[in-house]
Amino acid sequence: MLQERVILHCDLNNYFASVECLSHPEWRAVPMAVCGSVEERHGIVLAKNELAKKAGVKTAMTVPEALRLCPRLVLAPPHYDQYVAYSHRVRQVYAKYTDQIEPFGIDECWLDVTGSQRLFGSGEQIAHRLRQEVKQAFGLTISVGVSFCKVLAKLGSDMKKPDAVTLLARKDLPTRVWPLPAADLMGVGRHTAPKLAQLGIYTVGQLAAASSAMLQRRLGKQGLLLWRNANGFDTDPVRYVGDFDPAKSVSRTTTCRADLETPAQVRQVLVGLAESVCTALRREQAYAEVVKLYLRDRELTWCQRQAVLPVPTRLVGGLVNPAMDLLAQSWQGVPLRSVGIGAGRLVSDRVGLQAGLFYDLARLERTERLESRVDEVRRKMGKNALVRASQMLTPLQVTLGSGFGRQYD
Ligand SMILES: [Mg+2]
Repeated sequence: MLQERVILHCDLNNYFASVECLSHPEWRAVPMAVCGSVEERHGIVLAKNELAKKAGVKTAMTVPEALRLCPRLVLAPPHYDQYVAYSHRVRQVYAKYTDQIEPFGIDECWLDVTGSQRLFGSGEQIAHRLRQEVKQAFGLTISVGVSFCKVLAKLGSDMKKPDAVTLLARKDLPTRVWPLPAADLMGVGRHTAPKLAQLGIYTVGQLAAASSAMLQRRLGKQGLLLWRNANGFDTDPVRYVGDFDPAKSVSRTTTCRADLETPAQVRQVLVGLAESVCTALRREQAYAEVVKLYLRDRELTWCQRQAVLPVPTRLVGGLVNPAMDLLAQSWQGVPLRSVGIGAGRLVSDRVGLQAGLFYDLARLERTERLESRVDEVRRKMGKNALVRASQMLTPLQVTLGSGFGRQYD
């Protein structure tokens, strides 16, 4: 038999709140929460410390709700730049132990350490070393799940926290995994759990014991995947650092009738292209982790720039704003003949939803709903049924190209 893989899932505990407490140590002694739009008092709770958690404050709760439960709750605004910075630093610690590191949202990573054990000890020993190193270097704690597949490693990191290591071996499936609620399993979200309940499936064990054919019939591909995961048959590999599937990208480029000479003109064209990219992403149920900007000047020299997004997105603004930052960094003002925008490193819905907490979830979902509605109207009434005001002025596009990887249209 093949050697079992050894996979760690490392989860930074109460991440945003912990980072805020680094700059405000006095907040460790009081219940505190990081909230979107604190001033207006109608943001939502993005993260909370242990004391707030004990008072019943939950992530994604509205601020007034949280204050009702815990009147002396300290509200802190988020500092995304710091969360991104610490996240990268922590990953550098992980990188000392393996080159297979796959981020899941900003505060979680899977590590495949199968080949690292000879040098650094067992998976459990490596987990403790990481836990101690991260705490010592940054004052942040992680909980680590150690298992033979990604799904169970993730389950393990949730079982004991903060600052803890949990092992789940294959033999632990019947005793420690199958009794858990089905919703604890990765991939069983708020849409899937009720569907499973309708089938009389409430625990991971019931999911594992169900007929895979029935699950596939009722839930499609997702059903089969869940059945595999519940049985410990997850063979999904941990990605290598910097490795992503170039086929998993979608982009749109266009050549303009007149050269583009100002950032405002470029933006106008990018918005139109990004709408098409985002429609494709919604159709694929994917979010982009990377935005790409393509530029070609009159001399027909192509230039491509890309940036990792602070939060996976499929919103027009989520792509265009960082693309405009890239433009500002790389464009000297030479008139442009063609421009394009792309979404790279596509991730599935569930990743995006989790990372969506990074911003004001409610606002994000509102915008998403709006953009999906626009898709719907356009599908029914034709592409030009709804046009953004900023697009009504554009005389510029002549050809619409799509490409650079998997094509959707
Ligand atoms: Mg976390």
